[in-house]
Amino acid sequence: MKRWNGWGNVKTGYPLPAPGMNYLVDCLGALDPQPDASLEDVLRSVPGSHLPDHPLVDISPEARLTHARGQSTPDWVALRSGRVPAFPDGVAFPTSDQEVTELLAYAKKTRARVIPYGGGTSVVGHINPPQSDLPVLTISLEKMTHLLDLDEVGWTALFEAGVAGPGLEAQLAQHGYTLGHYPQSHEYSTLGGWIATRSSGQQSFHYGRIEPLFAGGRIETPVGTLTLPHFPASAAGPDVGEMVLGSEGRMGIITQARVRVRRLPEAEAFYGVFFPSWEQGSTAVRVIAQSDLPVSMLRLSSPLETETTLLLSGKSWIPIADRGLRLVGFGDPRCLLVFGATGTAAQVRRVRREAAAICGRHGGLFVGTVVGHTWQKSRFLSPYLRNTLWEAGVNVDTLETALPWPQVLAAARAIPQAIVEAAAQSGERALAFAHLSHLYRDGASVYTTYLFRRPADPDQLLERWQAMKHAASLVIQAHGGTITHQHGVGTDHAPYLAFEKGPLGLDAIRAVCKTFDPDGMMNPGKLF
Ligand SMILES: Cc1cc2nc3c(=O)[nH]c(=O)nc-3n(C[C@H](O)[C@H](O)[C@H](O)COP(=O)(O)OP(=O)(O)OC[C@H]3O[C@@H](n4cnc5c(N)ncnc54)[C@H](O)[C@@H]3O)c2cc1C
Repeated sequence: MKRWNGWGNVKTGYPLPAPGMNYLVDCLGALDPQPDASLEDVLRSVPGSHLPDHPLVDISPEARLTHARGQSTPDWVALRSGRVPAFPDGVAFPTSDQEVTELLAYAKKTRARVIPYGGGTSVVGHINPPQSDLPVLTISLEKMTHLLDLDEVGWTALFEAGVAGPGLEAQLAQHGYTLGHYPQSHEYSTLGGWIATRSSGQQSFHYGRIEPLFAGGRIETPVGTLTLPHFPASAAGPDVGEMVLGSEGRMGIITQARVRVRRLPEAEAFYGVFFPSWEQGSTAVRVIAQSDLPVSMLRLSSPLETETTLLLSGKSWIPIADRGLRLVGFGDPRCLLVFGATGTAAQVRRVRREAAAICGRHGGLFVGTVVGHTWQKSRFLSPYLRNTLWEAGVNVDTLETALPWPQVLAAARAIPQAIVEAAAQSGERALAFAHLSHLYRDGASVYTTYLFRRPADPDQLLERWQAMKHAASLVIQAHGGTITHQHGVGTDHAPYLAFEKGPLGLDAIRAVCKTFDPDGMMNPGKLF
């Protein structure tokens, strides 16, 4: 069963060992965890629904609460404090395109606002109901999960868009294929959600982001069905599919999506390298990204992220490895790189040999597969640590950007610094660090994680979070970064969008959405 007020399955935990907890207390100060609101209390706070009966619409408090919020800090604060300002008036679970169309007609008739819902893993307020006098209908695609067609000649697959990561991969694997799209939220996030938010998987260096994987589909809009035929490529004017990517539910509901798939790889491995400095590590990963080496992922942690990750992971072999690394001169500072190779056995061997050699030329110490495979095993487990930390009295959040190479290192230092300074304004300490994750020939994404104590007062927590998020967002802008490399805009990034798109660009986005949704019924308040 899915947690109603946190991340993931109730059965999966991520205990934090004592040294990790002591480290956090040293960094942040003494912790004072406060109890959360109970499920019963929050269910009692769900008001009556304003939607008239419909056989496809569930107006139970349980359905409305479990679809009320996503995974952002404001979402967690709302759910954990029991102060949820708005609930959808009903949640529908269509099983076909026809039912989606029927629901859009019902919404039009009842003047309901519609929120398309995939896995609810948004971290920027995408699926939160607006506070409005008009009813809100959330349409979840959780029952639309089938593989509809597999083209084994052209390597494309057509899915219903509500399919989540594991279900999608399992259906493809039966035929020997993979999409290879692995966001860290893979367990719950869906194909439709990935397209609507321009998601990026951890092995995007090999498989590509969702944009090149998306090859057409079907979108039910308030004014009719938009069909995107599949072409390997086309010069027929602007690409309408590009407009659907990142549309965040404002154009309509993606019900079917064709994706470009590949044969399951013959071999895959993940390796670790330690660098004596952040500069040497980032030069090495840039050189690898600009070479023709078929690496599948690169993730380079800053010195502070490296130490924190090693300490919080709680693995028994780490103290021994630490002593060994210090003996060979890799004490503080040190930066951990995890890189992956995916493909044929020969390609994997080549990547291992040549990437290790590039790292060596930049001062790196190649440490084989132990660290890499530990990362691989916990890649979808680490979000569970957020539950443990919250319950211990710590809030953890992340933010991300992408910048051209000349700005990458400066931004990767300045963003955590801005967060620490914003926390200090309220007398608090924040632990903030970054890694470079998705790498490109012309730049990289900088992914920042920050932790701070959560005060007893939820409003105070939100104020502190807002101050840190805003400070970091201004630094991102000042360095020429995008406000989001992969999480999308939602409500939390909407105030920063105009800076990036310009007034004319933003007008064009609004105009496109209005074409498909003239009455503004689709996910209002998100994106712009
Ligand atoms: C622990 C964690 C790790 C994460 N890691 C990553 C990561 O590695 N990479 C990454 O890119 N993101 C990541 N995210 C963010 C999030 O998972 C992505 O934004 C994801 O693409 C959202 O998919 P979803 O199905 O959960 O969509 P939802 O959260 O349900 O919805 C997101 C938006 O998409 C719209 N939408 C959803 N489905 C449809 C549809 N069928 N038609 C039209 N609109 C639709 C919604 O209206 C909403 O605006 C992470 C989130 C968490 C909580």
